[in-house]
Amino acid sequence: MAIFSNDSLRQKHVLITGATGGIGYETAKVLASMGARLTITGRNEEKLLELKQELISLAGEENIFVKTADLTDQASREELVESSAKALGFINGLVNSAGIGGGGVVEELDEETVERVMDVNFKSTLFLTQLVYRKMLEQKEGDIVNLSSLSGLRGTHGNTAYAASKFAVIGWTQSMALEAIEHNIRVNAVCPGYVETEMAWNSIRKKAEKNGISFEEGMKEAAAAIPSGRISTTEEVANTIAFLLTDAARNIVGESLKISGGNFMR
Ligand code: NAD
Repeated sequence: MAIFSNDSLRQKHVLITGATGGIGYETAKVLASMGARLTITGRNEEKLLELKQELISLAGEENIFVKTADLTDQASREELVESSAKALGFINGLVNSAGIGGGGVVEELDEETVERVMDVNFKSTLFLTQLVYRKMLEQKEGDIVNLSSLSGLRGTHGNTAYAASKFAVIGWTQSMALEAIEHNIRVNAVCPGYVETEMAWNSIRKKAEKNGISFEEGMKEAAAAIPSGRISTTEEVANTIAFLLTDAARNIVGESLKISGGNFMR
């Protein structure tokens, strides 16, 4: 369902990380349909090129820049930002959608897993944003949306390291928002509950296995635990991200917007 026009983000250049993933992929399509120029990045080049093909009809080939990057690597982050600015000019918007699940129950956590989860979900997001932010500071404009999670607001049983990394994203979003708004740059976070992507299915599968039920039963249980009775679609999350990037949201600052079918109340 289109809720914006193809002028809502006309000429804005937005860089989307995790664009090969469920939420990033859909966000790219929504933003392209709103007139944005896009840098799409992820680790899987084939998937990025597949996305590019879909975006061409919405935005035109000249408005799409594709770049693979491992965001845990500073040189890769620098190359991404520099090549993106060179290809499509000033980066007006940044969507930090790259992320990984993982963690496990407390007694099973190991240092390597915790470091990996914090590295991708928090540290990489922070240092990529820093690079883009330095450029935004020169222009005194920009909009940044970080993917946190419902887990980053209330914790999740059995997913402690992931939840901690998403709490970090919110703490950092709110702190950065205070500094950035002095320069006309807005920073916000979105906090989805379960979304129809591989990440959610993996988590539901793991829980189902532990409880000795089938994946289908696990899916039914997960949906039934949500007041609205269902898991969010990627389009619903993408539309929320898109809204935060538009002028309609110009006084929304440091927000952690939940998209959970009311699940945060349970
Ligand atoms: P996904 O697994 O489908 O996609 C994740 C993306 O991150 C992929 O494109 C992957 O390539 C990229 N990525 C991971 N590590 C990377 C690295 N080192 N360098 C570059 N890219 C890397 O996940 P998704 O469901 O689309 O989730 C997107 C974001 O939303 C994540 O931050 C996730 O934590 C958050 N989130 C998802 C859900 C959900 O239920 N799916 C719920 C709440 C929050």
